[in-house]
Amino acid sequence: MSGSTAATAPTASLPGVQRYPHVFRPLDLGFTRLKNRILMGSMHTGLEEAEHGFERMAAYYAERARGGVGMVITGGIYPNTEAGRGSKLSTPAEAADHRKITSAVHDADPDVKIVMQILHTGPLARTPDCVAPSPVKSRIGSHTPNELTEEGIQKQLDDFANCAAMAKLAGYDGVEVIGSAGYLLSTFLVQKTNLRTDRWGGPWENRMRFPVEVIRRVREAVGPDFIVIFRISAMDMLDGGLAWDEIVSLGKAVEAAGVNIVSTHFCWHEAPVPTIATMVPRAAFASVTGRLRKHLTVPMITSNRINMPQVAEDVLARGDADLVSMARPMLADPDLVNKALAGREDEINTCIGCNQACLDHTFGGNKQVSCLVNPRACNETVLNYLPVQRGKRIAVVGAGPAGLAAATVAAQRGHQVTLIDSAVEIGGQFNLAKRIPGKEEFYETLRYFRTMVDKLGVTLRLATRADAAALKAEGFDEVVVATGIQPRTPDIPGIDHAKVVPYIDAILGRKPIGRRVAIMGAGGIGFDVAELITHAGTSGAVDIDVFAKEWGIDFKNHPRGGVTGVVPQVAKNERQVTLMQRKADALGKTLGRTTGWTHRMVLQRRGVAMVAGVDYLKIDDAGLHTTVNGEPRLFEVDTVIVCAGQTPLRSLFDELQALGVKASLVGGAFEAAELDAKRAIDQASRLMAEL
Ligand code: NAP
Ligand code: SF4
Repeated sequence: MSGSTAATAPTASLPGVQRYPHVFRPLDLGFTRLKNRILMGSMHTGLEEAEHGFERMAAYYAERARGGVGMVITGGIYPNTEAGRGSKLSTPAEAADHRKITSAVHDADPDVKIVMQILHTGPLARTPDCVAPSPVKSRIGSHTPNELTEEGIQKQLDDFANCAAMAKLAGYDGVEVIGSAGYLLSTFLVQKTNLRTDRWGGPWENRMRFPVEVIRRVREAVGPDFIVIFRISAMDMLDGGLAWDEIVSLGKAVEAAGVNIVSTHFCWHEAPVPTIATMVPRAAFASVTGRLRKHLTVPMITSNRINMPQVAEDVLARGDADLVSMARPMLADPDLVNKALAGREDEINTCIGCNQACLDHTFGGNKQVSCLVNPRACNETVLNYLPVQRGKRIAVVGAGPAGLAAATVAAQRGHQVTLIDSAVEIGGQFNLAKRIPGKEEFYETLRYFRTMVDKLGVTLRLATRADAAALKAEGFDEVVVATGIQPRTPDIPGIDHAKVVPYIDAILGRKPIGRRVAIMGAGGIGFDVAELITHAGTSGAVDIDVFAKEWGIDFKNHPRGGVTGVVPQVAKNERQVTLMQRKADALGKTLGRTTGWTHRMVLQRRGVAMVAGVDYLKIDDAGLHTTVNGEPRLFEVDTVIVCAGQTPLRSLFDELQALGVKASLVGGAFEAAELDAKRAIDQASRLMAEL
């Protein structure tokens, strides 16, 4: 079986080696060795195109190398200009820039391998020069690609080989070639994007010729002692996608062409199935890797929603993979592996799969990537929590996301922090989010903050209402006001009717919800509430069978693309729910770029009606009286749940100001409009970094 060559781990006495024996077993590749089985997967960060991007990438990757991973794979680098807009590697001068990355990683830890991903986005390149086997425009592409001629194909092959040679010159330990996701190589494989009739199209042997030839040419260019990884589309989720026997034969062919490792990838970007969002169960796709692993001899990498060491250990112990890729979890916590090794898992800042600061930024206009739970990610050269010479006495009022971030960053820097909240537990709005089916990962963020508050010696005063005069009397040097928000109550007749329920009461189950429901407001919280009150049975986020049924995935039989093609079954309860907003736009436009469509789709499948252009007139025993696009309409409902946004809670700040106490505002108390945890944590962390 692949990946069986293992040396004894040098750190056998550390708790993590006992607890995660499969994770901390080195992997011998013959000419080189990976020190453990966790690697940082490839992720485009936006730094590739940023000013001082190479210096910033060097710091970003080096921090992950110091954090203990065995191998780092960079974000995608283009082999030529038609492959995509952004960072390209095709000349020795460009290789010199990449040296900054490889040197930084090897200096950080000579045992960590740094591998560069070669990315050719094919029809998804945002340039009119984009190329593909056939002129088939992707649903999510910007241009119809130019059909490659035979000469054009040879040029692309040369460019791949040259890029790999330049990567070697730049000091990388290897390259990964991405053959999935709807990028160039995968469009040769699939019939609907490859309409050619020459030796590069038609029967399967011809369609797989290009990816295999890329690997053969890359291997030829770099010689034997260089890691070559092929990222295979192991379940593309396309109607008419790859059949299982095609995937197996491709795996065998790239193996024969010289890869050292095969990495499984799931889903084309255009496929309507979530594969990494927080609603996807942990390690949901690892079994597919495990099935393919039985057919190959080289080691295999699996990925997707593997965010804690125990999940990685279980996957490896089951024999589903030889290596586990964690990309977003390394944004969330660069020290994840070291913490696992030292038995400090409770300190891991876990990736919650929200995509809000990472993939939503990549796909939402090429903004620089960071992380909701760790704003330092990709900001390593500009945001640092340096120790202070003389600690101040700081009171942080409010233990929601902003207050928790402020308290822990300040304490980490050496300040004496007292964290005060009127609630009996920390978390603020996170305590609402964790109750929404599909958002169970928020429990991890709460566990992380609870641990850090304790370990950093933050004095915690729960069930305590902060009082301005008392704070002044205690003589704090600074007070950080993170008192959050209060839900907005729209000023319409009947808003105090018994059938009106504020969203907090709905989420906490404090008030009964009827069978016919109107949800007033369709922001993130309106959608969350609709999810909660229409849900039935087990959450798909914690049950792979339920998840598979909800999204029409057939893990067992693996039909073409891995999808059944029949309309998926979504469990729903008996409620009739209408989600509404005043704006004329389509509902859900403000939701995350990469996840909003999943929420819309789930609710539509559950029969939730979505109505825009609503004017609320009054609420009475008959229901909610409105006009919709000017036409009178009565929604005969038993319950109206109000999710109409929030306003800041600032009275404490005003009182402190009046008493002359130095105070600053963070999070919702600072600005409630369009506030989310990403902005709250980022703002609070940056403020405390400067204190
Ligand atoms: P929000 O996203 O700002 O949405 C507020 C909703 O209330 C809008 O649909 C708005 O639509 C409506 N509204 C505003 N003023 C109103 C008024 N006076 N009367 C009636 N309706 C009114 O706020 P939220 O839903 O409370 O969410 C708060 C924050 O948490 C947001 O930033 C959100 O992104 C974040 N969050 C995100 C997620 C996620 O999945 N990513 C989940 C939960 C929360 P109209 O003005 O058109 O009526
Ligand atoms: Fe994970 Fe969310 Fe951070 Fe992205 S932004 S790395 S999904 S926690």
